Amino acid sequence: MKAVVKYDNRDGATKIIDVEVPEITEHEVLIRVKYAGICGGDPHIHHNSMSYPPTIEVPIILGHECSGIVKEVGSKVKNVAVGDKVTCETHYGFCGQCFYCKQGSYNHCIDRKGLGASVNGVFAEYVKVSESVIHKLPKNLDLRKAALTEPLCIVYNAIINHTAFKGGDNVAIIGPGTIGLLSAMLVKALGAANVVIIGTDKDQRRYEIATKIGIDTADCTKLPKEEIVNKYTNGLGFDVVVDAAGNNPAFKMAVDLVRREGEISKIGFGPAPLDFSLDFLLLKGISAHFAFSHSWGAWEKCVQLLAGNVVDVEEIITHELPLEEFEKGFELIDSLEGIKVLLVP
Ligand SMILES: [Zn+2]
Ligand SMILES: [Zn+2]
Repeated sequence: MKAVVKYDNRDGATKIIDVEVPEITEHEVLIRVKYAGICGGDPHIHHNSMSYPPTIEVPIILGHECSGIVKEVGSKVKNVAVGDKVTCETHYGFCGQCFYCKQGSYNHCIDRKGLGASVNGVFAEYVKVSESVIHKLPKNLDLRKAALTEPLCIVYNAIINHTAFKGGDNVAIIGPGTIGLLSAMLVKALGAANVVIIGTDKDQRRYEIATKIGIDTADCTKLPKEEIVNKYTNGLGFDVVVDAAGNNPAFKMAVDLVRREGEISKIGFGPAPLDFSLDFLLLKGISAHFAFSHSWGAWEKCVQLLAGNVVDVEEIITHELPLEEFEKGFELIDSLEGIKVLLVP
């Protein structure tokens, strides 16, 4: 089968290679990948500029966001059958025995192995995963939309499961990429009063998409943050601020935008150390949340949100490319021209 393989730990060492279709064991499932989403982190792996993990074990098939059809099941698989429409979580393996696994937070398992980062991922015709991370799709959810379950789930876990977000809250989101746009769509659908997505003067194309889906935007290189606070919160400050950008200025802005006793959810990774004091978090009594990955419950909720079209992700799928054109897909993400780019193996 064809697969996008990172074969060396240096910039650009990724290519299409013919590899064997994976062989499954008794608790595993082989999925024929129909759509695979390029995550913001994938081009970083390609360029060897990751924040975490700093290097990965090569060779490896990249990619962790997908939907597909079950092609084969292991002898002990009970809940999934050949022909099922499915999507799968990004945890290829977890021990089931550690403190975290035992309390259901297997995303923090000390032995967790992630698709496309520590084991072969989904940028291929087939991927094998454990039965335990597969979610069957409702009939009314198409595979194209279902490929976005993972990024939606990141956002759901970070905002809904970790912050005190409620209907009626004013929410600011910093960073208008896939994660920022999904955050905005989610909180709006769940009853946020005012939602604004904040970017820079480089984000014109992303503002167009935000506007198309009815989300207000603010360019922080033109509009001072005090004015953003005044316009959307009458000077109080936002109840919840989502940092979907990850760099120092974004987190600093989140601290400035949030109201006293408000909530910050940091989703974006940023490798540089902080260059400002955290005293303002203390003075304002801010709760800052850092949520990693996702788990079963959040994933099931997101499948329902997609199936019910509560969050219509179709609007942010900007490109669909054959697997062979993965590099073009990475460039579309790097240039900020693409939002969600899907590869079709
Ligand atoms: Zn992702
Ligand atoms: Zn574990």
